[in-house]
Amino acid sequence: MNTDNVVTRMAPSPTGKFHIGSVRTTLFNYLFARHNKGKFIIRSEDTDRERSKPEYEQNMLDSLAWLGLEYDEFYRQSERTDIYSTHIQKLIDTGSAYEAEASNDDTHKKVIRFKNPNSKITFTDLILGDIEFDTTELGDFVIARTIDTPIYHLTVVVDDGVMGVTHVIRGQEHINNTPRQILILEALGFKRPEYAHIPLIMSPRGGKLSKRDPEVIPTLEYKDEGILPEALLNFMAFIGWNPGDDREIMSKEELVEEFNLLKVQKGGGVFNIEKLYWINKQYLTKLSDDEFKEYLKPEMKTVESISGYTEEMFDKILPVIRERIHAFSDFREMIKDGELNYYFIEPELDSEKITWKTSTKEDTVRHLSHILEMLESYTGDWNSDNLKTLIFPYAEEAGKGDVLWPLRFSLSGKEKSPDPFTLLEVLGRGIALKRIQANVEALKKSPI
Ligand code: GLU
Repeated sequence: MNTDNVVTRMAPSPTGKFHIGSVRTTLFNYLFARHNKGKFIIRSEDTDRERSKPEYEQNMLDSLAWLGLEYDEFYRQSERTDIYSTHIQKLIDTGSAYEAEASNDDTHKKVIRFKNPNSKITFTDLILGDIEFDTTELGDFVIARTIDTPIYHLTVVVDDGVMGVTHVIRGQEHINNTPRQILILEALGFKRPEYAHIPLIMSPRGGKLSKRDPEVIPTLEYKDEGILPEALLNFMAFIGWNPGDDREIMSKEELVEEFNLLKVQKGGGVFNIEKLYWINKQYLTKLSDDEFKEYLKPEMKTVESISGYTEEMFDKILPVIRERIHAFSDFREMIKDGELNYYFIEPELDSEKITWKTSTKEDTVRHLSHILEMLESYTGDWNSDNLKTLIFPYAEEAGKGDVLWPLRFSLSGKEKSPDPFTLLEVLGRGIALKRIQANVEALKKSPI
């Protein structure tokens, strides 16, 4: 493989929002170009005037900007009609193309067909290996409707030729287009690029990943989910490729350094969304607290409106939040489920739910009163480790559920919340003792 003056291109058709499958093709083109200190081009293939929309092109550019996949040149096919016309004319002049009736005779329209030399085409795909096609069965295929309205095969070949694309890296669904494109490029005298048809992305439910799979959403919706761009790139790079060792977390720079087109696997790689969230968590862990707060910002207005909210308390909860979320959507869930409220405002008392299933109300009063005494006389550093050391032996002796459940419930008022020691630490001595005390009083008065 020649890697001098590498030029790659990503050539999306802006007929829909830029979805996740396109990210991987873009990324492989990007990584290969950057690794070889070459050029990476974005070409908007918007010749289908009915289906192409400027807002989809914008969505593609916004997605690339968010991902940090910067490109060196940008082209729009709809602005290049003259270039295509010149080349169609050249094909006609040299006898490689001719005007003919469209095969669909009721329209009686003319089209421009390529004069197929019916040769055998062989090429070595960098991923799939040697490929041979007999082009006879393709017949004299259509390359344009009129001299000013070229179709896909023609525009791709002309652009790749004129732009000096050295490596065509694209999805395997394009493999059958390659022989036609090679025939055209040979007739035009362009240098043949190297081809690398990358494997399909497979659905975790089997088969090819398709628009029906819930993972296939516009790229920017992953941003709204709280997936970090570095995490998404890292994840996508590993679908069909890996560095050949046990590394799983790689920055964009490391990917550029290590990426090797020849090591891309032939078979499809599975899109495993749990892996994406796991990778995202690794990247979230690397953020500083300030960066993490910035990350949470889109939902902070809602948090700040929780009754009793203080920034001071929020800072104390931050480590708990950081531990519990894999993406922004988990934070949204926490807010929705009221999992942050009890830090700021006293939970409602519930004399029924507070008692563990194997305990009586009297047991609960006894356990909580005992813990209260222990905590009141405790003078050490108020942190979850120390508090666990203080309380845990008693819980083990008297029954973990019987002791720890009511303790946790008295602090959070929730059946699901962080462990009681974390809650004690975050809430602080004053608030924690007050809440336990209030529950003991309420239980004593309750009729059950
Ligand atoms: N515009 C084509 C597509 O969106 C890609 C063409 C190519 O990569 O050769 O599928």
